[in-house]
Amino acid sequence: MKKFADRLIKWGIKEGRTTLPWKDKINGSYDPYKIWVSEMMLQQTRLSAVLPKFNQFIRIFPNVEKLANSTLEDVIQVWAGLGYYRRARNLHEGAKIIVNERGKIFPKNAADWKKIPGIGMSTSAAISSFVNGERVALLDANVCRVLCRRYCLENTNSRVKEKEQLMHLATNLLPKKKSEMAQYSQYIMDLGAIVCKASKPACYKCPVSEDCKSFNSEAVNLYPKKLKLTRREKQITWILTIDRDLILLERQNKEELWKSLLVPATELKMKGNSPLPRKKFLGSYQIKVSNCDLTVNVWKRDCIFDTLKLTTHHRIVNKIMISKVPVPRLLEKVLKDFDFCSNSS
Ligand code: SF4
Repeated sequence: MKKFADRLIKWGIKEGRTTLPWKDKINGSYDPYKIWVSEMMLQQTRLSAVLPKFNQFIRIFPNVEKLANSTLEDVIQVWAGLGYYRRARNLHEGAKIIVNERGKIFPKNAADWKKIPGIGMSTSAAISSFVNGERVALLDANVCRVLCRRYCLENTNSRVKEKEQLMHLATNLLPKKKSEMAQYSQYIMDLGAIVCKASKPACYKCPVSEDCKSFNSEAVNLYPKKLKLTRREKQITWILTIDRDLILLERQNKEELWKSLLVPATELKMKGNSPLPRKKFLGSYQIKVSNCDLTVNVWKRDCIFDTLKLTTHHRIVNKIMISKVPVPRLLEKVLKDFDFCSNSS
């Protein structure tokens, strides 16, 4: 039987995702900037959602210098729609480090990539194996699933010992040749995404089924063990302060949730300390944000902005511009539901 890596690469050349826009080679090498941006976008987001956003991002920020010299607000604006905005902040911060502190030189190995904000063990391994051909194993959710099924492991990759065990097994499967590392890393992720899927894995077309322990013992669905997440519940209040076609927003800097985005302004005061106009309850929205079930109670207050004590933190946004500024997707929905941005383009 051929080695795992050989079978995987042979399969990947025919069936893998070989036409990704960040996989264009220049002088035989991948562009580290494009690989880095794509890996950051692919953390927690599906490929189908990443593809159009990646192309737009690269059009606007074609290289690391352009990204470093842009404002965070511009970057967040382009990122809008992908969610998990911390990744956009990390990319911007990372670009500034690479340009200003590292002389525009990208890291040369996985250990060095890990020093860039937002890059952990798996992302650093993916980038370095693609860009530098480094023999280092990546362990994203897809790869962990393949390994757990291959070796009949209940492993949830959540404890140090479990991570070490998976890393040891993953390293043993790597190809010996550095020149095969980029293909291998891409195709093992593809195998998990296309064939060894979380539900209904297509074992009948799997290139490595011959020596897959769970397949051979008809126990594929037992692995890996499902991790039970404890979910938190949280309630927040949004008061939409509105003056005809205008809404009053402020940048979220206090909490991690929606950090750097524009959210409804809080803690407003009237000039002359008069009481604020009465607010009216609009409704409640339930959304899931990572491990939290969030309830957002939405109120509306009509108010003439000239009567308010506004500060430099406040942003007055016209309803026709709401889709052009970085706001949480939920806020866009609320505004649409209540016809606030019905004329927006
Ligand atoms: S045989 Fe099935 S369970 Fe095993 S690696 Fe292939 S797809 Fe996954």
